[in-house]
This record gives sequence, structure tokens and C-alpha cells, in this order.
Amino acid sequence: MTILRVFIMAAILVGVGCTSAKADSDWIVFENVNVLTMAEGSGHPIRENQLVFVQGDRIAAIAPVGMLSIPEGARRIDGRGMYLLPGLAEMHGHVPPLQSFQGVPERYLDDVLFLYLAGGVTTVRGMLGHPHQLQLKQDIADGTRIGPTLYLAGPSFNGNTVTSPIQARERVRLHQQEGWDLLKIHPGLSLRDFEALADEARTREIDFAGHVPSEVGIHHAIILGTRTIDHLDGYMAAVNGFEEPVSDDKLRELAQFTRAHGVGVVPTMALWETIIGAGDKDELLDFDELKYVPSQVRQGWKNFLAEPRSQYYTGDSARIHAENRRRLLAIMHEEGVEILLGTDAPQLFSVPGLSMRREIPHMLAAGMSPFDVIYSGTVAVGRYFADVDDFGQVMPGQRADLILVSENPLINIDTLYSPEWVMVRGELWSRAQIQEKLAEIEQAYQAH
Ligand SMILES: [Zn+2]
Repeated sequence: MTILRVFIMAAILVGVGCTSAKADSDWIVFENVNVLTMAEGSGHPIRENQLVFVQGDRIAAIAPVGMLSIPEGARRIDGRGMYLLPGLAEMHGHVPPLQSFQGVPERYLDDVLFLYLAGGVTTVRGMLGHPHQLQLKQDIADGTRIGPTLYLAGPSFNGNTVTSPIQARERVRLHQQEGWDLLKIHPGLSLRDFEALADEARTREIDFAGHVPSEVGIHHAIILGTRTIDHLDGYMAAVNGFEEPVSDDKLRELAQFTRAHGVGVVPTMALWETIIGAGDKDELLDFDELKYVPSQVRQGWKNFLAEPRSQYYTGDSARIHAENRRRLLAIMHEEGVEILLGTDAPQLFSVPGLSMRREIPHMLAAGMSPFDVIYSGTVAVGRYFADVDDFGQVMPGQRADLILVSENPLINIDTLYSPEWVMVRGELWSRAQIQEKLAEIEQAYQAH
């Protein structure tokens, strides 16, 4: 509340008294805009006809039109008839290496970072560390590189990188010293080594998350304190959901157990449908956004579809598996498990930022409302990162990560997929600028 008052005072003072144009020039004001604040406990989800003041990388104030004066020299964005909401997060994303790899041009890294923004994604939890990424994160934070705010998992903990409890503990300490935000778990870790990792991570107060190693199992991973479970595959393994329908009771037990331990879930539904062979191949190959990735990456994805899947991942099994996953997500949502938006971009057919339009329909199909989906990519993510920054709501003091869309996203959520403006840490991108840059990326990656 104190912050709110100070910011509003600042806005009023600048508006009425101060004549210094220099002091005013870093204000940006969205005018006449409808705001989906996503503020917790806000009764009415949309505040109509508002002014939203941004200064530097923070939201400074929000007030009905006419209540606060607009600072002289402020950049004014007319949001009449439009809807402003917090930028979205990709909670299971990846960032390519700094150098060219497998013939993929070096520019791919910057293009991926831009594609996230083009899709309204202003925060990415990077889920596999490469050595250069910590510098990349810093460069973005400093404004010397364009991109979403990054929070980064370090290099993988798996059966190859960790073969003893001592080594597990040493690796936890090393990753924390290096400055990673999260420890990334992959399959293959032994239970003994996982327990050592979990114990060391708890002592040192660093999070771990990712896959569930088969020797550990879902219940153990949750009891030992994993921060999120990603992909839902660990749950399917626990109830043998790959081939046969699983009862609601079994799924509900898993959901209640997860909820009771406060563990979040990043379902990555669209990607997993592709992986298990339940996706429609022709539809995947037709995704318009494929033109924004290099031809080498595109070809790799096409090759994946052409490979014979294992017997679990064909025909009826794939459909049953996919249906079990959908029902699990539905029951998790009913039981109040914290669902976090993520697509595992840029994995198979998940083009960074633009992959939201593929994931969100799966979440709706599992019974989540447009509000729930937006919550999973904004407020829920803000809660997850609450000890490092404030974002995920349109409220004073929050990081100025915003998207302005042409329709009410609670009525037509598709409006999220082509924002009119994207603001990341106070920096604005217009639709025209985004389109221009997308056209340039498409041009660069045309297949020959
Ligand atoms: Zn991943």
C-alpha cells in the first residue's frame, strides 16, 4: 500500500508541478484502456477505462481516466477499446547455444529471444543451462540484448553427470555458486543420488525441478521437495497410464498429493501429444509459425514425425495416453494444483512464444477457463518467483511486462496470439514493429 501511495504521489507531482521535460521523458502511459489486472482478491476482473502509468521498468500507477494527470512529455499509447494484461511466461523454455550448431545460423539465438516477445512471453524459465547463458541473462537484464527476462536452470543432473551422492552434493554447490536459479533434473538419476541432491538443495535453499527419474518415482520426488513436475510423464509412469485408461480415483490421489505438498505442475500438453504420437501430423506440418525457425530445425522436427514410434506410441495407445493426460490435468485443476504455463519451446513444433496458441487449447479442453489459463502464465508465475521480483499483475510496483490486445481475452483468448503492443521491462514493441521483425526472420530462414 505504501508503494502504491508513493507512486501515485509521484505521478500527481510530475503532472501538476514539475516543468522539467527531462524528468518526464521516461513515462509511458496507456490511456482509456480496459485492464485485466490479475490482482489477487480483485473482485471484478476487468477495470474499464483506466490510465496505466509506467516509469522505467515498473508500473507506477493505475487509476480511472481523469483521476491522475499525465506527465508532460510522457509517451501516450491510446488503448481505447483494448485490453491490457500482464505479459505471459514460458515456464519450460529453452534458449539455444550462443554459437552456430548443426548448421543452424548464429542469429537463431536472438531470433528465439525475439519470438518469445512476439508471442507476448516476457518471462522464460530456461530449463537447461549452457555455460554462456548466465551472461545472456545479465545482458538482457542490463538492456544490451533484447529478450524476455530469464530465470535459468543449470546443466543437467542425470545418470551420466551424477554417479555418487558426494558428486550430487558437489554439483548442487557448484551450480549455486555459478549463479543458476534452479537445478535441472533429467531421467537416470539413482534414488540415492537424488536424495543427496534434494538434501543439499534444501540446506542451501536452491530449487530443483524437471523430470522424475524412474528409480525415484513421483511420490518420492514430491516428498523430497521438487519445485515443479514438468510434462506430467512422471505421473503417467506412476499409474501406468501409457496404454490403458486410468481411473479418476487414481488420478485424484496424485492431484491431491501434489496439492498437499505445494508442488507446481508444468503440463506441456501440446509437445507431449507430438512426442507420444497422438498429434495430427498434417496439422503439425501446417503450423504457420514453422517459417520462423531455421530450415535445419524444421527438418529435424519433420524427421521426428517420420521415425517409427515405439509400440506404446502408436494408434490407440497414444490416444488413450493422451486422454489420461487430459483427465489428469482436469483433475489437477479441480483439486487446486498450481498449474504453470509452459510449452518446452523450441522443442518439436513449439516455436518460442508462438507455441502458446498450441498449448492453450489443450488447457481449455481440460476444463480451465481463459482466466485460469492467463493466471497460469501470470499470477502463478509471479508467485513462483516472488522472492526474486514482483511481476505477473498489473499493479503499482510490478515489473512493466504488459501486453495490449484488441479483444477481451476472457471472451476470446485467441486475441493473446497477436498482441497490439508488447512491453517488456518498460520497453515497447508495436504490432508493426513485431510484424516487420517477423518478416525479416521468415526471410532469413526460407528453405532453398
Ligand atoms: Zn525441456
